[in-house]
Amino acid sequence: MVNIGQFEVWFVTGSQHLYGDKVLRNVASHATEIANALNDSKHIPVKVIPKSVVTTSDQIFEIIQQANSSKNCIGIVAWMHTFSPSKMWIRGLGILNKPLVHFHTQYNEAIPWSEIDMNFMNENQSAHGGREFGFLVSRMRKNRKVIVGHWKNEEARIKLGNWTRVAAGGHALKNAKIARFGDNMRQVAVTEGDKVEAQIRFGFSVNGYGVGDLLKSIDDISDSAVAQLITEYANQYIIEKEVLNGKSLKDAARIELGLRSFLEQGDFQAFTDTFENLHGLKQLPGIAAQRLMADGYGFGAEGDWKTSALVYAVKVMGQGLDGGSSFMEDYTYDFRNGGRVLGSHMLEICPSIASHKPKCEVHPLSIGGKEDPARLVFGVDSGPAVNASLVDMGTRFRLVVNEVDVVQPDEDLPKLPVARVLWDPKPNMGIAAESWIIAGGGHHTVFSKAITSEYLEDFAEMAGIECVVIDKNTNPRNFKESLKWNEVYYHLFQNHM
Ligand code: MN
Repeated sequence: MVNIGQFEVWFVTGSQHLYGDKVLRNVASHATEIANALNDSKHIPVKVIPKSVVTTSDQIFEIIQQANSSKNCIGIVAWMHTFSPSKMWIRGLGILNKPLVHFHTQYNEAIPWSEIDMNFMNENQSAHGGREFGFLVSRMRKNRKVIVGHWKNEEARIKLGNWTRVAAGGHALKNAKIARFGDNMRQVAVTEGDKVEAQIRFGFSVNGYGVGDLLKSIDDISDSAVAQLITEYANQYIIEKEVLNGKSLKDAARIELGLRSFLEQGDFQAFTDTFENLHGLKQLPGIAAQRLMADGYGFGAEGDWKTSALVYAVKVMGQGLDGGSSFMEDYTYDFRNGGRVLGSHMLEICPSIASHKPKCEVHPLSIGGKEDPARLVFGVDSGPAVNASLVDMGTRFRLVVNEVDVVQPDEDLPKLPVARVLWDPKPNMGIAAESWIIAGGGHHTVFSKAITSEYLEDFAEMAGIECVVIDKNTNPRNFKESLKWNEVYYHLFQNHM
């Protein structure tokens, strides 16, 4: 997976010449001090590069032009130390094509009551400089995030760091290639969508490959490589002897190696498959999809390229964080105890969310008519998580997000041969499922314990797509209304982003 530590955000400070050189020198030194402190913060995983104080329309245009064409710059952090009359920003913001965060902070944390004079007021006027900048960004209908807080404050740094993670995920997605083995599961609607619009909107490309192309890579794998991978399985997972020595696990290992080699050679970051197009493959890739996801690949089953792309983006955002992220599906309900959802899939749940050492098992699949596939079986620790589904509404993409709490099953599930997770959706299962369905959210999701709904909202904001969040405050009547308002909004504004 792409290393997000290589990415940069540029710290650009706005001011003007009205206050004289001495103030501008102070502004510059404060800006450098703040950018360096943010760069050193453990909460910000990318480099924060201090850029010069900009005081003219030409300077602003030039720095934004450079940011646009810089390979590693994934966003601009704008700070108005003083008042920066924002007509100067029109030309620059007009061409900005990187995500923008307005860091609304000021150099001093407290007001120096006994010392404060008009010189101090002139030098420390973020409070109204930030408002002038904010007006212009709003007036230009530019999507951005506003983070308010003192730059030494941990919460503000976490917010900024999380935003940079989202920018990294969006940036990685821009250049991502998704391989699609086979087509969509027949007759399924929600996993379909406009791939051209997706490429225009997000940047990633989705292209199809015959399973025969993949078979060639699988056939090229040597027996010794298969034996080596089986040893790795034995070291990492709990495996019964007969599974370890059986033919199914060898076939599964060969599929993993072939798939990995295909994806590496084609420089793909994500993929889809479907149990209906497996001609020549001995089994549906189970452990292969699981382990590739754990290594940062995006995955979507049944041809679901939108979820595959989203899994990849979320994996990039969550790099190095606790928790994990996986392809997921709402499977079955427990209507007692206020209602809970058991999430799983036929096989393909990422072990990055496992609460314990996974068990590697082989069982029949019951659909698809292939040989018994190998898969990793595990449960998931309790705690907060999110589910997100990206759907194509015809006129726009909509990201549907639900905040959930992972809970533990009432009893063991000895006969369920797949990884599983039980969650309690917010505000409760009734409202969550009703709202999700009204919003057209799919059965496939990205499930993540690493990121929060705020990441996904920021992601939608950067991509200029709709985002609806179902959380503890969701009221079905208001939620339904907001979907109707969005219908109008996205017709009016989607070309302005
Ligand atoms: Mn499915």
